[in-house]
Formats: sequence, structure tokens, C-alpha cells
Amino acid sequence: MTNRLYYTDSYLRDFTARVVGRADELVYLDRTAFYPTSGGQPFDTGSIGGAAVIEVVDEGERIGHRVAGAVPDGPVDCAIDWARRYDHMQQHTGQHLLSAVFEEAFGLRTVSFHLGAESATIDLEGAPVEPRMLVEVERRANEIIYENRPVGVRFESAAEAQGLRKASDREGTLRVVSIDGLDRSACGGTHVRTTGEIGVVLLRKTEKIRQATRVEFLCGARAVRRARADFEALSKSAQLFSAALDEVPASAAALLETSRAGEKTARKLALDLAAYRGRELYAETPPGADGVRRAVQRLDRGNLEELRAVAQNFTAQGKGVFVAALADPPSVLMATSADSGVDAGQVVKAVVAAAGGRGGGNARMAQGSVPAAEALAAALERLTS
Ligand SMILES: [Zn+2]
Repeated sequence: MTNRLYYTDSYLRDFTARVVGRADELVYLDRTAFYPTSGGQPFDTGSIGGAAVIEVVDEGERIGHRVAGAVPDGPVDCAIDWARRYDHMQQHTGQHLLSAVFEEAFGLRTVSFHLGAESATIDLEGAPVEPRMLVEVERRANEIIYENRPVGVRFESAAEAQGLRKASDREGTLRVVSIDGLDRSACGGTHVRTTGEIGVVLLRKTEKIRQATRVEFLCGARAVRRARADFEALSKSAQLFSAALDEVPASAAALLETSRAGEKTARKLALDLAAYRGRELYAETPPGADGVRRAVQRLDRGNLEELRAVAQNFTAQGKGVFVAALADPPSVLMATSADSGVDAGQVVKAVVAAAGGRGGGNARMAQGSVPAAEALAAALERLTS
């Protein structure tokens, strides 16, 4: 059975131990300060006898250390990565604090905790979490941080332990972590020794997860790093708007409105231009012997959709047939006036089918695509004859 040194001293970072077992890449020690993944808190990293520790697993009785490299026999010097561990201690103690305050203030119960690489989350059950609750809990939690209350660890008999935030189903001895005057929780994790060491609590986004609300939070150095990143992102936005940071939302809203109005104007102008081009093309296209004007437009690339309005305005003048061909992808468009005697849908369908393509439409407007450029030339020939 491994003696868990972190149970009684979360601040122990260097220690010596004896190797008492090996299996695959796992090394077992008689005692360890390495925290194994458990209760939402990730494992510690560091070194054992000069070999890097890349994972620590809790096997119940024993703790296995996965190492990259050879670990000598005999007493070994061990060191845990303190920056990583201390960060976990800040986040984990912050979680106890937040869970207690959410429960005290709004009766919201924490049902799970996850400590990720960037941020941590708790899942809360009870009423939906409203923004005002987040503001209130964040304010209250930070107040308790300023009060620098002691965070203690005691071993108590499970049968006699009273006032735990969440009843424990463990038997025998419980490890009870308490925040003075606020919280008592059975927990095997590592914690800072006063609330002041949590540094600061920052609540961020919430997310609905089945019956619970997931609340993201950051403590200590993470909160400061995040606030710094937020500031830089907001500063860049503010520079683009030549505005103060607090004016960015209003500036963005105003710009969006201007942009929507601009798009509306552009759409109207495009229609006006199409009408003008359609009428102009009609005027400069001489009528054939049958009095029908036939216009052909060729595009190398682009979009036939853009020509639909021109086509409509051309044929709206009467006695008109409008044909457009796009080289890439090879496709055709045909519009006809009712008095032209040409059914655009039937003609396009027949012509593109003959060229191995697909298409169709109604009697006045039809569109089709053909497999290759040569087929396009043949289709165009037939459409304009
Ligand atoms: Zn804990």
C-alpha cells in the first residue's frame, strides 16, 4: 500500500522514496507526493530518479507512476512539477469555495467537477443559473478569498463526521477538507492552506447540460492570464473601431446596422442596373425577320444567376429571346417573352439533354448545365438557331 504523502502535506514537492515494484512502464514507491488523477483533479508530473513522470494512476491500494526513462533501484530522489500542482491546488480549492457559496446562496448543489488544462467547470443542479446569481456568487466567493480563511484537513470517522456538504458513502476514515466557517467536504485532493492563496475567482460561461448547469471558472494565475488575453482581444477590437474598450459593443452594433443598410442598397442598385442593362441590350438588338429580338451573352466565369434580372428585363419588352452561356462550369440560361413563341423550359430541357446535361425551368425562364465546353458550344448553337 502506497503511503500518500500529499494527504497530510499538499506543499511537499521534493521527497525520497524506495522503489517497491515495477510493471510495464509503471513504477511503485513505498511513499509518494505525486497526486494521481482522481475526483476531477488531474495527475501530477515531475521526475522519479531522473526519469520524467508522465502519468500517475490510482489503483486503490497502490499508486502507479508511469515514467519515460529508467528508474534506478534503491532510494530515489523525486520532485513534482510545482507550477502545475499549485495551479491545480488553486483551482481545486476554488471549486470547494464556489460549490459552498452556490449552495449557501441559492441552494444549488454541485454534482460534478472537472479540472481542464485551460479552465475548470462545476455542474450545478437545482434552479436554472441566472446571470445575477453568477455576479452574486463571484462577489461573495472573492470576499471570502480576501478574508483569507484557513483551509484545513482532518481525518474523521465516517460514522461520526457531521455537517458535510455532500454525504459520503465511504466507510472507515474520511479525509475532511474544511473552509473555516463555510464548508466541510470529504475529499482526497490537494488544496491550498488559506482561501487567500486561491488568489481570485472569475466565473465565465454557463452551459445547460441535461438537468444541470455547467459553470466555467478560473482561479489564481489562470484568471489573470485569461483577463490579460481578454483585454488584448478587446483592445484590438477597440483599435479597429477607434473606440474606448467599453464602447466596443455599441460600435460593433452600429457598424452591423450600417453594413445591413449598405447591403440593402447594393441589392436595390444591382436590380436597377440589371433593368437598365436589359432595356439597353433590347434597344441595341435589331429584330429578326419575325420581329423577335435575339440576344446572346457569353461569360467566361461567374454566375448565371446575376444575368437572370437582365434576362427578365430584356424579355419584359416583348418579342424577345435571351440566351446566356457560362464557360466554367459549362451552363446555359434562356429567357423568352410570352409573344416570342418559344417555350424556354422545353427548349432548354431538350437541348441540354441532347448534350448529355441536365436542366429545366418554366416557359419563360430556364437553366441547364452540360458536361463539357464542347457540349456547351453545340447547345448554344441549337438554342440560338
Ligand atoms: Zn477537494
